[in-house]
Amino acid sequence: MTYPKQTVVGVPKETYPGETLVALIPSHVPLLTKIGLLVLVESGAGEAAGFEDEAFRAKGAQVARDRAELFESAEILLQIRTLGANPDTGRDDLSWLRPEHVLIGLADPLGRPEVTRELAHLGVTLFAMELMPRIARAQSMDVLSSLATIVGYKAVLLAAATLPKLFPMLTTAAGTIPPARVLVLGAGVAGLQAIATARRLGAAVSAYDVRLAVKEQIQSLGAKVVEAPLEVGEVEETGGYAKKLSEDIYRRQRELLTPVVAASDVIVTAALVPGRPSPILITADMVARMARGSVIVDVAAERGGNCELTRSNEVIVHHGVTVLGPTNLSSTVPTHASQMYGRNLANVLLHLCKDGSLLVDMEDEITRETLVTRGGEVVHPRIGALLRATHHDVAEERNE
Ligand code: NAD
Repeated sequence: MTYPKQTVVGVPKETYPGETLVALIPSHVPLLTKIGLLVLVESGAGEAAGFEDEAFRAKGAQVARDRAELFESAEILLQIRTLGANPDTGRDDLSWLRPEHVLIGLADPLGRPEVTRELAHLGVTLFAMELMPRIARAQSMDVLSSLATIVGYKAVLLAAATLPKLFPMLTTAAGTIPPARVLVLGAGVAGLQAIATARRLGAAVSAYDVRLAVKEQIQSLGAKVVEAPLEVGEVEETGGYAKKLSEDIYRRQRELLTPVVAASDVIVTAALVPGRPSPILITADMVARMARGSVIVDVAAERGGNCELTRSNEVIVHHGVTVLGPTNLSSTVPTHASQMYGRNLANVLLHLCKDGSLLVDMEDEITRETLVTRGGEVVHPRIGALLRATHHDVAEERNE
């Protein structure tokens, strides 16, 4: 099929195993058509999230019969997971990619920088959404925050469904039930949503984060702050992320947290350091001190986990304590996860496009920080440096 001379924004069906989200939903289509873009959706792309082809058509999108037609006709491709974040099945799309293509989605450039080199060789332009700067005007484009919100909420529901106790305090004719004691480790976006959700269910919640700035946010949600005084100096990177701390400090953290962990019925762990394995805050020994039936939901599992026992997508039972390590929890809430993610990407396009076509303005911080490949090169300095470091390590290993 041929389309009018308009920039075509394609929405392919996600191919990562178990992924149910779609990168744009029907209600976002008019936002893009209004600025002169044409939206083309692969048939069935929204089905798993509850959005039929017909609903996209009704809002002004066109529907491509199959993936080949979509890749052939679209210039900009909106995805949940581009190749880097979809390392195996994502390779099936490589033969369709051309230098005209602009990929916008999660790409895991810090975890798998080598994939960005492959995309650069194909001439593709890649905007990696993990690199969205943490500045006020980028908040509406921040897909990590959207997904983390869903993850924090769902982690608590998983814990509540697994715990052999109730969450709320109940005073009944059959006696009084005390509230569940929930501990949240890492009070970023996911952790704060976990606190809010556990509070809504009536639990007594406490939370710990290495960044002092979050204390007030924890308290404003009705949770207690776990004080673990550490002389760690500057723990925060510019942009609100935590730094990687020394092993000595992590050991001290574990010592301070041991009694709090032992007294908790539920622990949700969501402590992350971007581009690094997650810090171990709970050892097997600490788990063994918890009461039987207690539950840990470790949403840092994809980056190794905050609990020593965590295994991705497995249920581990240790001394009667259940440790869950779910990854991709957002795929269990696909309708709202797609709504939030899609709105973020629509905002990215509203920001990047001028007069109906994409304008790459390197003076703009949002463009500069998220653009990874362009014109056959890896243009992002941090990813470029990572690639050189990886190359150097490999060369050194070979020389050993
Ligand atoms: P994240 O997912 O990288 O980390 C989650 C939390 O883990 C962070 O709060 C971090 O401090 C904590 N953590 C890391 N190491 C720890 C340790 N050893 N012990 C205890 N806690 C540890 O971060 P995030 O949730 O994506 O966001 C972090 C901050 O950025 C938040 O304050 C958030 O409000 C802010 N933010 C700003 C914007 C914006 O301005 N555009 C967008 C999103 C988030």
